[in-house]
Amino acid sequence: MSPADRSGAADAPLFERMALIGMGLIGSSLARAVASKGLVRSVVGCARSEATRDKALELGLAESMFADPGDAADGADLVVLCTPLGAYAEIAQAIGPRLAAGSIVTDVGSVKQAVIRDVGPQLPDGVHFVPGHPIAGTEHSGPEAGFAQLFEDRWCILTPPPGTDPAAVDRVGALWRGCGAKIEILEPAHHDKVMAITSHLPHLIAYTIVGTATDLEDSERAEVVKFSASGFRDFTRIAASDPIMWRDIFLSNREAVLEMLQRFSEDITTLQRAIRWGEGATLETLFRRTREIRSGVLEAHQAGTFDPREPEKLAPGEADPDTDSPGEN
Ligand code: NAP
Repeated sequence: MSPADRSGAADAPLFERMALIGMGLIGSSLARAVASKGLVRSVVGCARSEATRDKALELGLAESMFADPGDAADGADLVVLCTPLGAYAEIAQAIGPRLAAGSIVTDVGSVKQAVIRDVGPQLPDGVHFVPGHPIAGTEHSGPEAGFAQLFEDRWCILTPPPGTDPAAVDRVGALWRGCGAKIEILEPAHHDKVMAITSHLPHLIAYTIVGTATDLEDSERAEVVKFSASGFRDFTRIAASDPIMWRDIFLSNREAVLEMLQRFSEDITTLQRAIRWGEGATLETLFRRTREIRSGVLEAHQAGTFDPREPEKLAPGEADPDTDSPGEN
């Protein structure tokens, strides 16, 4: 059985020493998942703040935590970048000279072409670079927000640039499979376009709606909060996602987001006209079509929250009001 075919608990660790650069929601979830499945022999980490480094040690997420990414990468056979995208170029410069030939660098970033542009050139010959993106997350941040089951039954997209060693791709795939994820290989540009419409634009819309509500008169704003269960609530969850991370995603995926935004603006203008001129059939036809998309999402088991305590995969609007909903990207 090739390593990429593995699933569930590993017979032997896939990597000796994994360095997680960034120990937030995704980094700490990966630390928990690999520990629970015995996928790596040891985990070290890196975070900017002393508070995060101390918390990671207290939670037992890593055996050592470093402030310098280069120190964390030293001696690692797998380095996983788990910081906001804007930090990648500087981190790649710091780790490049410390990486041994044969080691693998991967990442979890939500945009892939910019990562290949920023990280690839900084890595020395003989180091394998396998960009990745787990399609899993919540709107929460930091080392305490993570949980081992986050990646179970979720897709992890790998976007290896041309010429990447297939064995390195297999090994990274095996790690994610071991964490319960399903693997898909995509072209980086294709990944960025798909994410622009499935994740980035919805977040932009959520940020906009919540921003618009914030600008309302005091009396109206109070009632928006009071009656938020009518749909607004789910937007507020998504719009609570980390500001730095999302700033970096939009700046890194500029072209694809602008293209999707253009299409969206045209479609919303069509709806605006239909409402203005009382064209009910136009509205109804669209709403019937979109219902079918919803059924497809449910059938693909990609709806609902990522909370492992959630009994069923329900959509945010269909979920128990007290459970969290996704803010994945
Ligand atoms: P997060 O919870 O905010 O954690 C970010 C971590 O990166 C923190 O530990 C932070 O350290 C550290 N960090 C930031 N800048 C750094 C630097 N210059 N050097 C070293 N460490 C640094 O973020 P996250 O939600 O895990 O997201 C991380 C990445 O995953 C992003 O690239 C995002 O695109 C991707 N992603 C996120 C989700 C999601 O739903 N959240 C889903 C899929 C992919 P301090 O705490 O000390 O600041």
